[in-house]
Amino acid sequence: MTVCDVCKRRKPVVYQKHTGLKLCKECFYQDIHRRVKAEIDRWGMIKPGDTILLGLSGGKDSWVLLDTLVRLHDPSKIIAVTIIEGIPGYNRREYAERVKAKAKEYGIDHIMTSIKEYTGHTLAEIVDESIRRRVGVSPCTYCGISRRRILNLYARMYGADKTATAHNLDDESQAAFVNLLRGDWEGLLRQHPLSSPASPLIVPRVKPLRKIYEWETATYAYLGGFPLQETECAYINMMPTLRARVRRALYRLEERRPGTLLTFMETLDRILAEDARSLKPQQLPSCERCGEPTSHGRRLCKLCELLEKAGIEKPRYTELYQHGGREPLKLHRLRVSEGGG
Ligand SMILES: [Zn+2]
Ligand SMILES: [Zn+2]
Repeated sequence: MTVCDVCKRRKPVVYQKHTGLKLCKECFYQDIHRRVKAEIDRWGMIKPGDTILLGLSGGKDSWVLLDTLVRLHDPSKIIAVTIIEGIPGYNRREYAERVKAKAKEYGIDHIMTSIKEYTGHTLAEIVDESIRRRVGVSPCTYCGISRRRILNLYARMYGADKTATAHNLDDESQAAFVNLLRGDWEGLLRQHPLSSPASPLIVPRVKPLRKIYEWETATYAYLGGFPLQETECAYINMMPTLRARVRRALYRLEERRPGTLLTFMETLDRILAEDARSLKPQQLPSCERCGEPTSHGRRLCKLCELLEKAGIEKPRYTELYQHGGREPLKLHRLRVSEGGG
């Protein structure tokens, strides 16, 4: 009988291409936990007393992040948030409910919210209108920016020290490659774990799974009995073109030479470390509409600007800010009974 290359006892269930090892479930799990811990410790992502706001999409990555983090951090210091995007037939409530149940099992408070609750519109409504108006902004852009904003809002409200998201190695290397190709130096530096957010109003974001392959998170979740989502996001084919091309190209490179993505991110980590460390938060101008930080020379923040293109000039979240003020107020005013979408 073939045995696991590490414990030499149990039956192997995973072939880890980039190491050439056949691993049993236990040794595979240990390997993931060890690598996540190493990445957290290496950059000081999370300190022992930190309150962490965990963004859980309800997918396999978020399940792995939850299952890994509870072994490394005090669960009473973790708050989980799930944001329902409002995409027909996708991210259905049942998945979110499963992740919520898991969080509860670990003793973690869980908040369910939605893009609709925050902006007043589901992602599908926003996307439909932007298609009608031929805006040319991808659904992923609307979705990503809204989700980041909502997580940050909750992190500020709960006084969290960090927000943690489940971006994996595939996500991060694709984003880095796109930043390289577009010459987006700041975007590239902001991906580095040593960089600080652009403004003091943005809670530092950490990505503990950034060195874990997507096939590994999928395998981890599957072996743990987490039901894999059978449906893809309905907007997958509307991903920004460059990102989609980079994604395909990187998969081909990885297939030819397993370990390529890891080496790529490791190299960037080293090249960028010094510049990333020197990037400090600054006092940024506030968006005239919502009070959130925007970049110099801009009247509106990115989200307000994007929503305006889709014909939404008074998003619901503008009710959260005192006129002229910067701090969000009375979030409960925004709570709607069904969470939207
Ligand atoms: Zn083993
Ligand atoms: Zn704004």
